[in-house]
Amino acid sequence: MKKEVTLSKKLESELEFHGVNRRDFLKYCAAMAAVLGLSEFEFTTKVAHALEAASKKPAVIWLEGQDCAGCSISFTQILNPPAASIILDKISLRYHETVMASAGHLAEKVYHDTVKEGGYVLIVEGSVPSADDRFCMVGGRPFRAIVEEAAKKAAGIIAVGACATYGGIPAATPSKGIGLDKALPGKAVINLPTCPVHPDHLAGTVLYFLTTGKVPPLDKIGRPVMYFRESVHDNCRRRSHFDAGRFLKDWNDPKQKEWCLFQKGCKGPMASSDCPIRRWNEGINFCIDCGAPCQGCSEPGFYAGMTPLYTAESEISKRIWAMREAGLIPRKES
Ligand code: SF4
Repeated sequence: MKKEVTLSKKLESELEFHGVNRRDFLKYCAAMAAVLGLSEFEFTTKVAHALEAASKKPAVIWLEGQDCAGCSISFTQILNPPAASIILDKISLRYHETVMASAGHLAEKVYHDTVKEGGYVLIVEGSVPSADDRFCMVGGRPFRAIVEEAAKKAAGIIAVGACATYGGIPAATPSKGIGLDKALPGKAVINLPTCPVHPDHLAGTVLYFLTTGKVPPLDKIGRPVMYFRESVHDNCRRRSHFDAGRFLKDWNDPKQKEWCLFQKGCKGPMASSDCPIRRWNEGINFCIDCGAPCQGCSEPGFYAGMTPLYTAESEISKRIWAMREAGLIPRKES
């Protein structure tokens, strides 16, 4: 029998203050619980307890290096649905160059005071130039030095997006951008790749930390297993066409519309992410379902290692094809 979740008066009034009804809040908790492998009752009770207990908000510093601010835009989507914003209201975002109201010396003072205090969560967006520090200077200082400084007293470090995790697009530029895997060798970093970071991946990771006080289980390259366990190919709805050898070659032929995008450069068999299940923009769509091949943005080597993007001529596409021919990509059970 399903156990009834009881919310405290304090939490009920907080929901009311944010204009969130109880049903929507519980629905959001149920969705997050499924990802974290907990029962709805267990998770909601934990969330309610964490919200009650959060007398002091954990401080967060968000740094931006060589980036396009796409992950910041993705992050602001966390505020919708409002149920998530209640939970994220429990963090204190002290420094974020794009969204903070303060600027100049005042903003820098907040940053330095927080670093001095220590014990904050450091979120980094964008890569660090490895060719020359002058490619990315913030407030007159090398971004590399700021990242190293902020990492020293951080309680936890999260790299968001393809650039901050493994270098991303800036790795293919003269700046030779690197991710935190190389910029902070030996430091424990939670990697949330994809270009941009998925808002649910970030919200879920913060929630996991808030509800358990621990870092979620990570794979060999630092990604939370709960989001990067399966390949895009495993859950792609075009998968039966890949198995049957029906590959889209002509965008203008309506008969081929639903066929596999491998010949158009899809890297889905080599990319791990729950994009086909979670989708983007609150579950509306994702690359492959709107006709764009997967570019493997969840993997080290994106972007340069995945080019050319729209044909199957890259080394990685050749590897995928060789694996298919050798029967190493098992057919999906229908
Ligand atoms: Fe889907 Fe790409 Fe795999 Fe084809 S190759 S089934 S489009 S993930």
